[in-house]
Amino acid sequence: MILVIHQQSSSEERAHLLNLLQQVTSNQRPVNLTIIDEHEVIALDESQLDARKCIELTQHPAIERTVQVTTPYKLVSTAFKAGRSRIHVGDASRRVTIGGEDSSPVVIAGPCAVESRDQLLTTAQAVKAAGAQLLRGGAFKPRTSPYQFQGLGVEGLHLLAEARELTGLPVITEVMEPDMVETVAQYADVLQIGSRNMQNFPLLLAAGRSRLQRPVMLKRGISATIEEWLLAAEYIVAAGNPNVILCERGIRSFDQHTRNLLDLTCVPLLQELTHLPVIVDPSHATGRRELVPTMSRASIAAGAAGLILEVHPDPTSALCDGRQSITPEQLQAIVQEIQLLTQVLARKMPLPSVA
Ligand code: PEP
Ligand code: MN
Repeated sequence: MILVIHQQSSSEERAHLLNLLQQVTSNQRPVNLTIIDEHEVIALDESQLDARKCIELTQHPAIERTVQVTTPYKLVSTAFKAGRSRIHVGDASRRVTIGGEDSSPVVIAGPCAVESRDQLLTTAQAVKAAGAQLLRGGAFKPRTSPYQFQGLGVEGLHLLAEARELTGLPVITEVMEPDMVETVAQYADVLQIGSRNMQNFPLLLAAGRSRLQRPVMLKRGISATIEEWLLAAEYIVAAGNPNVILCERGIRSFDQHTRNLLDLTCVPLLQELTHLPVIVDPSHATGRRELVPTMSRASIAAGAAGLILEVHPDPTSALCDGRQSITPEQLQAIVQEIQLLTQVLARKMPLPSVA
């Protein structure tokens, strides 16, 4: 059940409601309100609550209406909010919108890892020239082996901020620990929560409660079901941050020819289940640069709100994920194809004539 709080409720009514919510949830979790479409809302699982208290809550004068949602994830569900959410990224001078009913797909591009000032600034300028709207780059890298390059850390964040000043592109970068959320949010326009951390619940809560409320791009866990993924998104939204973008980046499979198995079915499926935008990462999904252009087109044709692509000026010398990194020239070709494809997809098809 979702409770929508009356915008005109008095402060006494609100205080009373919050007190009641605290009792109802038996102080099991902090009572957080989330603002969605200018309304304060809170979701509860009725099966966990005392029936009489539930009635008391639904009839409370501070409650405008209640919405019944039967799925385990609630605030992210289309049963609560129909239509597609629009997530605004970047400050007013460089705003990019991801999602929504009719916005064009957004291309996020940049190196897997921030390696040096020269590498990042060169790539950032090339990414901008190729027509991408956001710059990516990992400062903190979750590497499988402890002996691999782990990223430049806070120095990488400084370089990303410099690249944003230089190009005007908002930046997205990964945060791996709850205690680093505020620091990363000071530099980044979007927080990336990586596949390996999709169920790092303290991290999800920290990104949800963060003071700066940066949009969060939540990548699908390496073997996560759709429901687990949506519940992970629900953690962030229920903690107070409604601005979540889902990113399909391939799931673990048995075949060794590609790094992962790109689950494109999830793109239209998620549009039935959630109002959150869904973007696709063909770089991590395939692990092979030669497959990235085709799977980029396929992702947009399937309805993705955007792409995140790894780009390196010299992929063979990349410190991380070079095999799947494309060149700036290849990025430019993909951006142009996506623009054409978007026009084709928007074109109304004539109805076949009935014989
Ligand atoms: C990345 O984007 O570089 C990354 C580490 O992605 P994932 O979490 O999907 O593996
Ligand atoms: Mn990578």
